[in-house]
Amino acid sequence: MAPVKRKGPGDTVGVAQISPEGITGLDDEMEVQLLGAGQEVGRSCCVIRYKGRTIVCDAGVHPAFSGMAALPFLDELDWSTVDAILITHFHLDHAACLTYVMEKTNFKEGNGVVYMSHPTKAVYRYLMSDFVRVSTAGSDDNLFTESEMLASFDQIQSFDFEQEILLPPSSTSSASVRFTSFAAGHVLGACMFLIEVAGARVLYTGDYSTEEDRHLVPAKVPNWERPPDVMICESTYGVQSHEPRLEKEAQFTNLVRSILKRGGRVLLPVFALGRAQELLLILDEYWAEHPELQHIPIYYVSSLAIKCMDVYRQYIHTMSPNVRSKFARGINPFDFKRKDSFIRPLDRGISKLNDRNPCVVMASPGFLTSGVSRELLEKWAPDPRNGLIITGYSVEGVMARTIMNEPTEIAALNGGAKIARRLSVDYISFSAHVDYTQNSKFIDEVMPSHLILVHGEVNNMSRLRAALKTRFAERKNDVQIYTPRNVETVKLKFRGERMAKALGSLAQTALTPATPLSGLLVSKDFSYTLLSPADLREFTGLSTSLILQRQRLALSVSWDLVRWHLQGMYGKIKEGRDAEGTPTMRVMETVDVKMTDKHELAIEWVGGVTNDMIADSVLAVVLGIEGSPASVKKTTDDHPHHHSHPHPYAEAPTPPATTDEPEAAKMEDEEAAVLPTRLDRLIAFLDSYFGQVELIRPEELSTPPANGDVAHEADVDVKGVAEETAVKVEADESEPAEKVEDKAEAEAEREAAKERKRLEDERQRPRAPVIRVKLDEHWADVKVEDLTVVSDYTPLQRRVESVVQIAMAIVTPLSALAPGKGSAKAPTLADDLHKVKKRVAENGSALPAVQEEAASA
Ligand SMILES: [Zn+2]
Ligand SMILES: [Zn+2]
Repeated sequence: MAPVKRKGPGDTVGVAQISPEGITGLDDEMEVQLLGAGQEVGRSCCVIRYKGRTIVCDAGVHPAFSGMAALPFLDELDWSTVDAILITHFHLDHAACLTYVMEKTNFKEGNGVVYMSHPTKAVYRYLMSDFVRVSTAGSDDNLFTESEMLASFDQIQSFDFEQEILLPPSSTSSASVRFTSFAAGHVLGACMFLIEVAGARVLYTGDYSTEEDRHLVPAKVPNWERPPDVMICESTYGVQSHEPRLEKEAQFTNLVRSILKRGGRVLLPVFALGRAQELLLILDEYWAEHPELQHIPIYYVSSLAIKCMDVYRQYIHTMSPNVRSKFARGINPFDFKRKDSFIRPLDRGISKLNDRNPCVVMASPGFLTSGVSRELLEKWAPDPRNGLIITGYSVEGVMARTIMNEPTEIAALNGGAKIARRLSVDYISFSAHVDYTQNSKFIDEVMPSHLILVHGEVNNMSRLRAALKTRFAERKNDVQIYTPRNVETVKLKFRGERMAKALGSLAQTALTPATPLSGLLVSKDFSYTLLSPADLREFTGLSTSLILQRQRLALSVSWDLVRWHLQGMYGKIKEGRDAEGTPTMRVMETVDVKMTDKHELAIEWVGGVTNDMIADSVLAVVLGIEGSPASVKKTTDDHPHHHSHPHPYAEAPTPPATTDEPEAAKMEDEEAAVLPTRLDRLIAFLDSYFGQVELIRPEELSTPPANGDVAHEADVDVKGVAEETAVKVEADESEPAEKVEDKAEAEAEREAAKERKRLEDERQRPRAPVIRVKLDEHWADVKVEDLTVVSDYTPLQRRVESVVQIAMAIVTPLSALAPGKGSAKAPTLADDLHKVKKRVAENGSALPAVQEEAASA
């Protein structure tokens, strides 16, 4: 789609772009299918399907046909799936098959709602009663009865212009639908619809007019935040142009005047409602300005229109400033019974009409297909003094269209006898539809990505399409234009561009291109807001609540063992008692591990994405305790040091299981000094794998050890291994000397011997602190500094390397990695060295005393 970027309201509001897929997956297809008004004028009925929702705009009949033939192609749609039918205005070609749809299709079986504006609904009722009366007269091909019309009438919902209506939710689709109506000019109550389905926007214009007139507010492009993606637009007049209004009015009044002057009668066939009101206002005004005409009667023959004048009076507040100001001065322009009016309404046919002398008669129907207008045409056609003025658009196949070709005779409605036509025929368009200039200007202002032309005859439509294409090409606007036939489905693939406004503290971040902004995406009333969770309540009124999660587990190991594993995983933990006095360990300030019973443990945390993740890992750690090799080691190994040193927890807070302090919920920080360091844990880990592990520091080797266990043991071990290796080296050296005389090989052998010597030196006197792993006669040193491994035996080296890798992944506390918790940079193992050194000085051991703990478990 054509991206149109608009600034959000307010300067402090940043606008962030959301990936469309990130929200609703907007790559779906929208389908627009015309059941009528596809390359024709009449029986408007447009189906919009998107995201499982179905909206129908208009349900009209074709004025050139009668009975079933006049209906749109209703069978193409399963009407029970329709969410809403929106009626733009009361004209028969937009509203007259609504009763049929509501009463005679399976629409009733669904949950669809019908909407029309208040004035449309008020007029619709009278108009449909009249439609039933006219269409059933002398015909048994009636579509529905008046009682059926009245039965469905009460189910029609009405709305005010610009009122936003949210459709009831659907049971089959999560997509939400809302629509807003905007004044369309054209006739009283006519509107266009801006329909939004899951964020995709469709403007359905219906019939519309942007021309100022006496009584209606013209259509204007609304001041919307974002242009519609799709515009379904009428194209009645194609590329034709209307004459300027004042010239047209002068032409009209002059024509009426000249017909009257030659002693003729003027016939104005009109739709009962719509342009008729405008023409009456023009004539009334003209008569008032021309006293010489005032003895000539202007008849307005329409019982329907007269009934509807009440509606017009009622909705004066929705009309033009001209009408409203007259009304404010006490003049009701639609009250033709008032003293100063020259209009004579006739609500009981033409029996009271005196046409012996010149007169003006406005009568319906506008198409001259039947009724009063046709009756008068047939009566007046032979007299050349008389004149017929067609003022509106006529569809193909109706008398109003046929007679414009000025045939010498016309067919009488009853019996088909030929009647001579000598009366003059003129066409002055007072159409309330846009012409090319108005339509193209309006489309330019809307600037949709897709334009679907409807409500136009094929030639008008294709000319309009060609003209618009040229226009768009010149401006390099990439607008797709479609002119579907009836029943044809237009499939629109478009990606909706979604905007989210960043509010609150997020909006204060200076945005640069390609900088991601993260926050909570709040979708409300079709708009998206990006917020910091802290601002949620202030900006959205949404309240937050906490969910306390609780998991109970059977515990078969000791509380101390649980602590040991948790500390290993998360580093520092707080320990104490909760409000109920239950011994509790708090992990990473979020998850509480509680000893609820001797053989039961509960894990509690406040629900949330991060917290749930931590709780999951705590759960995994606790569940994994029994099977862990370290645990096994802990409970079975009799480490040589375990009796000789006080365990490092000696100065720790009293173990929770035996604490009787009533001070509830107060967590004490464990002293960092008594926690096993990562180095301790690495050593313990390697120990659990290999059995014989020790920490060797060069500075201790250089000075004679003062009876320290570690140094002593190291000393002994080093000697032992050195002797074994020496023997082996001798044996190795003797072999090649006997078998091979090759110089190169001897050279290689010397190199190997050098390497062995280097390794032996390394073993005897490491240059930096190492953790030494011994396996039978082999050894491997893990350098504390960078965790590289040196060994005299490659398989052992590999094995130690992989164990170190696993160990480091496990012994690095999550707290050191979690953002916002602890420092971003974890201390290196070398940093741990001084702590260990301190402990050795105090306790004589480099290893944490976990085994001691296990023994007591
Ligand atoms: Zn219309
Ligand atoms: Zn229409």
